[in-house]
Amino acid sequence: EQQVCVFCRNNKEAVALYTTHILKGPDGRVLCPVLRRYTCPLCGASGDNAHTIKYCPLSKMQASAAKQQLRNARTALGKKLR
Ligand SMILES: [Zn+2]
Ligand SMILES: [Zn+2]
Repeated sequence: EQQVCVFCRNNKEAVALYTTHILKGPDGRVLCPVLRRYTCPLCGASGDNAHTIKYCPLSKMQASAAKQQLRNARTALGKKLR
């Protein structure tokens, strides 16, 4: 069973690098040295809790808030049409 860090693999790092570790341990802690050095620009998380913007809990909240706004806008539009 070979260890592969999907984060480094997606970043097109060298095979020799991304096969030396895995992205996260069984306890959910970040093990990837590259990701651990990364600080999330949205919430400032790094080290054990490091993640990219895509996986940031704040980014998910913003996405759902945007959907909610869209829904509200549609509802408002629907009322106008009636
Ligand atoms: Zn890695
Ligand atoms: Zn974040």
